Amino acid sequence: MDSTEVVVIGCGDAGLSAAFTASRRGRRVTVISEERVYYPRCPLPYYIGGFVERGELVKPLKDVFRGSGVEIVFDKALRIESGIVICEKRRIEFEKAIIATGARAKCIEGSISLRSIEDAEQIKRNAKRESPVIIGGGPLGCELAEILGGRLVEAEERILPTFDPEFSRVIEERLQERAEVVTGKRERAKGGFVISAAGVKPRVEVAEESGIKTSDYGIVVDKYLKTSMENVYAAGDCIEERCMLTKKPIHSYLGPQAEREGMIAGVNCSGGKMKYRGALNASIARICGMEIGMSGLSEEAARGEGMDVSFGRVRVRTKPEYMKGGTVMLKMVFDKERLIGCQAVGDEGVKEIINIASYAMMDGATVDDLITMPYCFSPPVCSAPNPIVICAENAKRRMNHG
Ligand SMILES: Cc1cc2nc3c(=O)[nH]c(=O)nc-3n(C[C@H](O)[C@H](O)[C@H](O)COP(=O)(O)OP(=O)(O)OC[C@H]3O[C@@H](n4cnc5c(N)ncnc54)[C@H](O)[C@@H]3O)c2cc1C
Repeated sequence: MDSTEVVVIGCGDAGLSAAFTASRRGRRVTVISEERVYYPRCPLPYYIGGFVERGELVKPLKDVFRGSGVEIVFDKALRIESGIVICEKRRIEFEKAIIATGARAKCIEGSISLRSIEDAEQIKRNAKRESPVIIGGGPLGCELAEILGGRLVEAEERILPTFDPEFSRVIEERLQERAEVVTGKRERAKGGFVISAAGVKPRVEVAEESGIKTSDYGIVVDKYLKTSMENVYAAGDCIEERCMLTKKPIHSYLGPQAEREGMIAGVNCSGGKMKYRGALNASIARICGMEIGMSGLSEEAARGEGMDVSFGRVRVRTKPEYMKGGTVMLKMVFDKERLIGCQAVGDEGVKEIINIASYAMMDGATVDDLITMPYCFSPPVCSAPNPIVICAENAKRRMNHG
């Protein structure tokens, strides 16, 4: 039987980050991976579109870990039993374990989903022959519709349904120039080239087989990412996320989140005690030349939670009038005076808005905190006042008059 100090099961964004973190903190780390290569999944649509080469994305895991001291074994973990990971071909004894088994795409029968590089290859091949029907109008479905054309079908009344309607509308109008967009319709795959972009399901088999507590949202963890089994942690798409604002379990499958959770689990498995504060679903995409992003709750979601909702919404220049720039529309949602959500769509600058708003939400910022926020300025770079400050002032006026 092999033995190690920290064993990491799965080597996507979460597993990789967990392994490097624990190793840098001086632990003897073994990674168990059923895949022999590493690649980030976020750029797969751009690989399909020919914007990135396969060799730029896909790296043999042996090369990724070369010189790091991390040992990699290619095997499938089946379950954990009394401090031992039981795999198909071997058993590995450990002091601490991190489950980072990710998620798999929900795939409507008769369709192809996009989770792996092999899926991407197949979609690329099919796209040479015909245009697809894409089921699911979330960010991935929209990215694919822009790249491949065809027909995009969304069951909800609008694409990007986690955004408020005025934001979804901007992208829908642009996307219609590239693909046929059908909303309010449930599509079944009836043969032909159909791509499912209808969400993912956490991979919880290893946890379940080990008697570790799971829910419909994934592996249940505490604020240190510890599972219900002693010395076993979990990170990434396989865990049950909790909304930082409502404290309720949510579905949330995002790359940076997986990477940060991997880091936290790596720290906590190597003598540290770092808290995970929860998810805000901070996300961004670039679709048909427009950046769109959000963090926290939309107005619609906040009202659904029964919160005391007010908001600010403005369209502002991203640079001063005398410089060349674009515009951005942003909306900030408040529960009483506390920021609980931010959405932005525009030509540029969306990532700064979303990242600042995310930090502000984590810090419990109020409308007055945002109005008095310090910010930088230089004409070729950005506008003044900062879009967040202008939007907060707009919200304050609505609060006072509403
Ligand atoms: C097409 C696509 C586009 C995306 N775009 C974005 C984006 O733009 N922005 C964003 O924030 N997020 C995006 N995401 C989401 C992001 O990629 C994921 O949240 C992230 O990859 C999750 O990482 P993970 O390590 O938790 O899981 P995964 O990447 O799924 O890795 C889990 C690994 O564990 C392995 N494994 C599972 N079970 C076992 C076992 N029993 N034994 C051994 N190995 C096992 C799997 O084979 C896999 O290699 C996208 C995802 C996809 C699919």
